[in-house]
Amino acid sequence: MSMNQSVLICDQVAPILNDILQKNGLKISYEPEISPEQIKEKIGNFDIVIVRSRTKITKEMIDSASKCKIIARVGVGLDNIDVDAAKAKGIRVINAVEGAMNAVAELVLGLMLSLAREIPRADREIRLGKWPKKNLMGIELSGKYLGIVGLGNIGKKLARHARALNMNIIGYDVIPIPDDFTREVGLVKTDIDTLLSSADFISFHVPLTESTYHLVNKEKFSKMKKTAYIINTSRGEIIDEVALIHALKEGKIAGAALDVREEEPDPSADAAVAKNELAQLTNVISTPHIGAQTKEAQALAANVIAEKIIMILRGVI
Ligand code: NAD
Repeated sequence: MSMNQSVLICDQVAPILNDILQKNGLKISYEPEISPEQIKEKIGNFDIVIVRSRTKITKEMIDSASKCKIIARVGVGLDNIDVDAAKAKGIRVINAVEGAMNAVAELVLGLMLSLAREIPRADREIRLGKWPKKNLMGIELSGKYLGIVGLGNIGKKLARHARALNMNIIGYDVIPIPDDFTREVGLVKTDIDTLLSSADFISFHVPLTESTYHLVNKEKFSKMKKTAYIINTSRGEIIDEVALIHALKEGKIAGAALDVREEEPDPSADAAVAKNELAQLTNVISTPHIGAQTKEAQALAANVIAEKIIMILRGVI
């Protein structure tokens, strides 16, 4: 394949991606605010389409993508791309699985510490002129049981970080967890119900698929300890939010930290989600899908994608 290809970049990506592709002779249209209608109109002119999380590449768009050979996601999950429709048309779909591991695992640590010590509330109340020391009796992570659901790249990274904080790790995955890894972090493998009923903190690191949609529902919340905290940095749809609101209000669990939501607004729009009941609960901490949002993770993902595109065009992979 020649390097004289045209590329449509639909979302904001690290500039390094643009630079590497341009240096290799590719022609770039950088349109980080492009609308779905505009994509449908223009997609037929491009050989390569690149997205991050804002843009959804639908079957309808793919139907109009007459020249397209590669759709690239500068990130991990491919749930914003109709992968089946792309594959049916012979379009390669690529992602950057390596980029986000550290960023997401570190965010989980931050969220666990925020839940354990109520750091966001302390800051909020001080801004209101209060000094709420006597109401802020926290707990320590050291010695607590951390249940990790999904031990892929991010789950494993989190286990290593949490081990350094002296947490006990319990893990569940649908595929076998390698023994050398379980030995390294002292992880105890369990079934999901044992994990949910014994962990003090439960963090989810599974992809969104038909089998993980509403993986955590009313029945699963009923198995958790009343003192348990859950952390979700994977995809909002893996938790039934109606059941979560109920569990939080009824004291079935102690709290939740959520980086992802069932409905997420366009990053440039107002956060209607903040007005939503869940984000307003006092035992909830929210972040606006910033798991992979570090300079290092974005640069790494952009480099990985640029390299993969060039390798594909050279016929190496
Ligand atoms: P990965 O593919 O390396 O690991 C996922 C693991 O989940 C695999 O080991 C898989 O076997 C396991 N799994 C699948 N279904 C399961 C189930 N029903 N129960 C238990 N385990 C199951 O993926 P990763 O890189 O670790 O990413 C995990 C998730 O994090 C993805 O959903 C991704 O979209 C999300 N993510 C979020 C952000 C963010 O900004 N918040 C950033 C990057 C990735």
